[in-house]
Amino acid sequence: MKHFAVERWIDFSRKLVGPEEALQMRKHLEAGCSECKDLAEWTARLVSCCANMGANEIPESATRTARAIFPVRVKERRRIPMRLPAGGFHAVLSAGKKD
Ligand SMILES: [Zn+2]
Repeated sequence: MKHFAVERWIDFSRKLVGPEEALQMRKHLEAGCSECKDLAEWTARLVSCCANMGANEIPESATRTARAIFPVRVKERRRIPMRLPAGGFHAVLSAGKKD
């Protein structure tokens, strides 16, 4: 029996597989594959959990507390001096010319 990989079950749960593949996967489950049934149930719970996470709004107080605990440190960018070749850009541009 050919099983379906976990990423196929994730796509199945997210309704991202094509109709033909979805039909084959449903038939596979109906044939009684317990290994894929466990994966399909797990991915369905995972997709449901992830969908619900986006619906929860984070309270402003929690955001402030998190920022106090983990302050954002912006690293100052190091300035790299620009170096021009001897003769400047004109020397670079005229190097490719053949007269
Ligand atoms: Zn299977």
